Amino acid sequence: MIPPLLPTYNRADIAFDRGEGPYLFDEKNERYLDFGSGIAVSALGHAHPYLVAALREQAGKLWHTSNLYRVLGQERLAKRLIEASFADTVFFANSGAEAVECAIKMARRFHYASGAPERYRLITFEGAFHGRTLATIAAGGSAQCLEGFGPKVEGFDSVPFGDFDAVVRATGPETAGILVEPIQGEVGVHVPPPGFLKRLREFCDARGLLLVFDEVQTGIGRTGRLFAYEEAGLVPDIMAVGKGIGGGFPLGACLASERAAKGMIPGTHGSTYGGNPLAMAAGNAVLDIVLEAGFLDRVRMISGSMQQHLAMLAAEHRSVIAEIRGRGLLLGLRLHVPAASFIARLRESRFLGVGATENVVRLLPPLNIEERHVKEAMAALVAACASFETERKAV
Ligand code: PLP
Repeated sequence: MIPPLLPTYNRADIAFDRGEGPYLFDEKNERYLDFGSGIAVSALGHAHPYLVAALREQAGKLWHTSNLYRVLGQERLAKRLIEASFADTVFFANSGAEAVECAIKMARRFHYASGAPERYRLITFEGAFHGRTLATIAAGGSAQCLEGFGPKVEGFDSVPFGDFDAVVRATGPETAGILVEPIQGEVGVHVPPPGFLKRLREFCDARGLLLVFDEVQTGIGRTGRLFAYEEAGLVPDIMAVGKGIGGGFPLGACLASERAAKGMIPGTHGSTYGGNPLAMAAGNAVLDIVLEAGFLDRVRMISGSMQQHLAMLAAEHRSVIAEIRGRGLLLGLRLHVPAASFIARLRESRFLGVGATENVVRLLPPLNIEERHVKEAMAALVAACASFETERKAV
C-alpha cells in the first residue's frame, strides 16, 4: 500500500520538533548538532531570534498579495542584492530549481531578443545538480534523475567539469551560454581547477555567450564570500540563488545584469508566490545579518579552523578518510568506508551531516557556528572514524 507521503525520499527515522542555533531537538528532546543545515539552507541556524522576530512581525501584517501589485519587501531586497553583487535586476522565486529555470529562460530569451533565436543551447557539466523540474533535470544530466520521465528537455550539452577544451568543442552556432556551479555540491563537493571559471568568462566574452552561475548552494556566504564568483575574480551575467537566502523560508532569486535580462519583458515569466511578503521579510532579515561588518570574515575564520581540524582528522584516520574537499563551510569528506553508514554512526553520536555522491559526507553547518561547535563536531567525527577502525581490527 502506498504510504500517505509519496515515497520519493529515503528518510531517517527521526522527527525534529524544535531548533535552537546549530542544534535540533527530536520528539524525545534529544539534542543533535546540525552540520547539515537542512542541506545548506539554515544559514543562521534554527529559530534565530532576529529572523523569528522579522517573520512574526510580517505574519501579523500581511502574508500575500501576488505580483499584481508592488511588494515593497521585494523592492528592498532586490536593491540590497544589487548593491552587494554584479546584478542590475532580480526575479524572486520560491526555490533553487525555480531560480535556475528563470536563469535558463533568461539566457535563451536574451538571444531571441538579440535576433538569434537559434541560440538556445547551454553547455552544462557532468555531475551538476540544478534541481528537479523537467528543465533542471535535463540541465543536470544525471541518468538517475532523468530515468522514466520521457523525452529530456532539449538544449543542454554536458561536458566534464573542469575540462575547458571540452567546452570549446561543445560550443556551436546554437550555443547560448554556459551554466555552471562554481563548486559542484551534490556530486561530492567538486572545486574546479584554478582558473577554469575565469577561462569560461573569457570564452563567453569572446563568443558572445552568457555565463550563468548556479549559486543556489554556494551563495549567501556559504563559501566565505557573499557569492563564490567573487573568489573566482569574475562576474557572471546571470545567477541563480536559493537555499541560504531565506534562512529556512522557501525563497529563490535569479539575478542578472541589465544586458542579460533584456529579453525578460512583461508577460515572459512569473510566479504567484514568488517574492511574497513573508519570504521577503525572511530574506531581508538574513541579509541584515550576513551583510553585517565582520560576518563573512568570521565565516572564513571558522572555516579555517574546521579545515585544520579536518586535515588532522584525515591524517590520523587514513583508513577511513580519503580526502577533504571544499571551501568555506561547504566541506566534504570523501571516505573509504560507506558514507551512508558513516552518517548513520554520526547520528548515533547526535551529529548530522549530509551525504553526496562519490561516497562523500558533506559538512554544511550554519554560518554562525562558534569554535565550541567545531570541537563538538570533531568529537563526533573522531568517534565515527574510531568505530570503523575498531571494526576493521576485529575482522
Ligand atoms: N542548484 C543547486 C546547485 C543545488 O544544490 C540545488 C539543490 O540542492 C538546486 C539547484 C535546487 O534547489 P531546490 O531544491 O531549492 O529546488
